[in-house]
Amino acid sequence: MPAVKSKRLLELQALAEEWARRLGMAEWTTINVLWANKKEQKEVTGCCYWHVPESLVTIKIDRAEPKKEETLVHELLHVLLEGHLSEARPYDELYERALNRASAALVRLKYDGRREE
Ligand SMILES: [Zn+2]
Repeated sequence: MPAVKSKRLLELQALAEEWARRLGMAEWTTINVLWANKKEQKEVTGCCYWHVPESLVTIKIDRAEPKKEETLVHELLHVLLEGHLSEARPYDELYERALNRASAALVRLKYDGRREE
């Protein structure tokens, strides 16, 4: 049985679902957000897995990552751009940087828009 999720994790999951809607990712019906384990935290601030037959996305995020919303968007962009591939792209530093820039810009736009209201 899966462990009960903390309030913080449920908030991050709601945020990931909000971004998946914004990115038009309706085909991914289940977005699951979990904390990264110690080994994963050493390597990355976030990572994601997807399973097409179940329309399931799992995002793992480092608890200590200060920019959690940007990390969620970065991981969703991986799924948006690679979810149709049978295997994720091999690690590519420039591609990762491009996703970082895109996710930072999207999150900035969300909050800039609010300030103008
Ligand atoms: Zn990445």
